Amino acid sequence: MTAYDQNNIFARILRGEIPCKKVYEDDHALAFHDINPQAPIHVLVIPKGPYVSMADFTANAPDDLTLGFFRAVGKVAADLELTEPGYRILANHGPDSHQEVPHLHIHIFGGKRLGPMLVRA
Ligand code: 5GP
Repeated sequence: MTAYDQNNIFARILRGEIPCKKVYEDDHALAFHDINPQAPIHVLVIPKGPYVSMADFTANAPDDLTLGFFRAVGKVAADLELTEPGYRILANHGPDSHQEVPHLHIHIFGGKRLGPMLVRA
């Protein structure tokens, strides 16, 4: 697996070196609006730890961070009032997925009918 890059853009956001439009923060997670939204609501949730991707996080993160991170994803969606109308979560892992930022992030999309999950190839 690729080594964690301490200077990736989300590491720099976590360190406060780059601003973000914060939605939520606790001991385990930070949530902020995507800079290039793909839906009326497009929020990213990232864990507070050096994990490249879902594979890295689920294999190596401690239990309290794993639990806290996934709880934060659900809470952010609820705080955004998306639980009832519905929302989509997505995490890209690796080259086939087109993951661009090598720090685990879960996308939360909502605010409209999102349609089918993937565009067919
Ligand atoms: P990926 O393709 O890695 O799953 O998604 C990366 C996401 O990060 C993209 O949706 C992109 O718009 C977003 N992004 C990249 N740079 C920044 C940034 O500096 N600030 C914010 N808020 N989002 C970013």
